[in-house]
Amino acid sequence: MLGWNDTRPLGSILDQSQARAFARHFGFKRAQDLLNHFPRGYAAQGVGLGAGQAEEGDTVTLVGEIVHNTTRSNPKVGKVYTIWIDDGTGIHTTASFFRATWQPKVLSNGTRAIFSGKLKFFRGQPQLQHPDFFPLGKLEIAKEGTDGSKYAVMQLLLHLPYVPIYPAKQAVPSWKILGAIHQVLSTLEPVADPLGPFAPADLPSFDQALRGIHEPPAQGPDLCLKRLTYDEALSLGLLMALRRADTQARKAPAMRSETAGYTKALRASLDFSLTKGQEAVLADIRADLSISTPMQRLLQGEVGSGKTVVALLAMLQCVDAGAQCALLAPTEVLATQHAQNISAMLKGIDVNVTLLTGSMSTRQRQQALLDILSGDADIVIGTHALIQDTVEFFNLGLCVVDEQHRFGVEQRDTLRGKGREGLTPHLLVMTATPIPRTIAMTAFGDLSVSTLSELPGGRQPISSYVIPAGNRVWVDRMWERLKEECRAGHQVYVVCPKIGGDDGVEALAAELQAHTMRDFRIAVLHGQQSSEDKAHAMAEFAAGNIDVLVATTVIEVGVDVANATAMLIYGAESFGVSQLHQLRGRVGRGGNASICFFYTHAEPGSHTLERVGRVAATQDGFELAEVDLEFRQEGNILGAQQSGRSHLRLLSLSKDRELIARANSDAATIVEEDPELARALVRDIDDQRQAYIDKS
Ligand code: ADP
Ligand code: MG
Repeated sequence: MLGWNDTRPLGSILDQSQARAFARHFGFKRAQDLLNHFPRGYAAQGVGLGAGQAEEGDTVTLVGEIVHNTTRSNPKVGKVYTIWIDDGTGIHTTASFFRATWQPKVLSNGTRAIFSGKLKFFRGQPQLQHPDFFPLGKLEIAKEGTDGSKYAVMQLLLHLPYVPIYPAKQAVPSWKILGAIHQVLSTLEPVADPLGPFAPADLPSFDQALRGIHEPPAQGPDLCLKRLTYDEALSLGLLMALRRADTQARKAPAMRSETAGYTKALRASLDFSLTKGQEAVLADIRADLSISTPMQRLLQGEVGSGKTVVALLAMLQCVDAGAQCALLAPTEVLATQHAQNISAMLKGIDVNVTLLTGSMSTRQRQQALLDILSGDADIVIGTHALIQDTVEFFNLGLCVVDEQHRFGVEQRDTLRGKGREGLTPHLLVMTATPIPRTIAMTAFGDLSVSTLSELPGGRQPISSYVIPAGNRVWVDRMWERLKEECRAGHQVYVVCPKIGGDDGVEALAAELQAHTMRDFRIAVLHGQQSSEDKAHAMAEFAAGNIDVLVATTVIEVGVDVANATAMLIYGAESFGVSQLHQLRGRVGRGGNASICFFYTHAEPGSHTLERVGRVAATQDGFELAEVDLEFRQEGNILGAQQSGRSHLRLLSLSKDRELIARANSDAATIVEEDPELARALVRDIDDQRQAYIDKS
């Protein structure tokens, strides 16, 4: 936990067999491991928690009263004793004991006890099989036949207004965890608040909170949980505030804002004028670039909102000042397309654009590297190949990172490390995925945010439809509509979640060519093609020589063909909210009315179908970003899938907005007033959490 640890070995506090059990079943070795094992819920005494909220297979603990029992004989397992437990949820849970000898004596009607065991459902009836149990309120029985530690636990249980329910293992049930934690807490000296004078005055102290989540006070655990949640939010806030302070202390090359030069030439040659939004963003960027503090700016704007021209004008300001610029793109398709578009926009303007990708021939590559080193290359556009050691710039002044979410912070930092001795290039990161406020604050808290909220050029809205695969009529109508688009001279994207297999790109393209759309020109585009094949397919599609492009999500980012007016997303259930939105953004780019079909096998009434429906219902990227947050497993957001264990255990990015905002502003105060403390607090935050932030 933030700024606190307790490294006492468990073996020095608990008895050896218990310490071994925790090491074996949970990997817990130190006191802090155990205290960091938070309850997953609480049972208020007399009110049960359990079967109603848990799923089959969970190890559940419930407190309840035995209201009924039966004894039956079974030829195979002998006497079976079954009890009905009333835990206050309104549903009675049963528990059966095979070869029951002594249990009927201990577990008679009217006995209250705590039960812990694996949950099963039999015809809707929740059951615990051979649960561990622990009678409450019949002291004399419990005293007999139990050891001292059980007795202590029971005393505790009797006096706790809320019984914490821990994620448990069969060998280490919840009440054993509770007992062990009690022992650890009772040998723990009062903890001085790690936040010192910055501790939030309206919340419990750290010491109270740490103890209170395990042994809640009479008013319950909520405030204690809130304090620890605040600490989690604060840890993220501190990391960001420190990163911000660190950048602020560096020096960047100041790019005088020229009124003449390439910037002016480009503006004069554009066949459109910038929107108000573009101008406003550009004014901010221009101001950032003109001083010697490194720019740290995030530019977010819907697909098609015109980020590229803004970035290009920013780059030209640097080229005007004699510096080089790097534009990092996540895929070769996108890098190549950027290079083409930007070269086209710079036609007649004496600025050199150099492309660097992984698939270039050795000779092309050598030449590119040389141009970059000599300074001949003014604007260098590339993929991850740009980040490699062999790439050295003559005078790198600005790094632009497109589709930020595809890159980690280390990657952008590596690119930024290629500036001149002692100088840090300015940084502009761009994303078409609108970022929910809480994520912007936590994961991008070190960046200033600019937003392009209008689309230029009076775009038509895209009509979106969910097409359930089982609905023949709709499916037929969908194909008819797609053919109509082609007949009208427009083009169509068909996006598949995979390349091979029955409903992959290849099979579907073959089927369309043979039957459904045989009158039209069809091509495929996917990641396993050679880069020439990919480039060829894209070029042919862009030139209008292809009617239907069947592709994987390689087209998700940046691909721009104004004549494409329809999209079919095949297996829409396989894609996440933001991916669906990004994909759909490939159409509706040319001022023509456009249409998008979400074809799906998702079950009616399922979460998945709801998710697809929510995307179909709106085109507002910010709304969808919030929807995304709601639907994504918190675990995914927190990077728990990669690491297997997340460090943010209480904080919810979708629910704790206020706390995050407050912690962020407090973090800035701490970094400003006591940077030593700030650094000390985050010292123990290990790479895992850093990695979460990097990947968000
Ligand atoms: P994105 O934000 O998705 O990167 P682009 O920069 O690719 O968007 O812009 C999409 C298209 O809109 C491009 O063809 C671009 O030339 C065009 N565009 C950009 N700004 C304007 C504008 N102010 N008026 C008209 N068209 C514009
Ligand atoms: Mg773009």
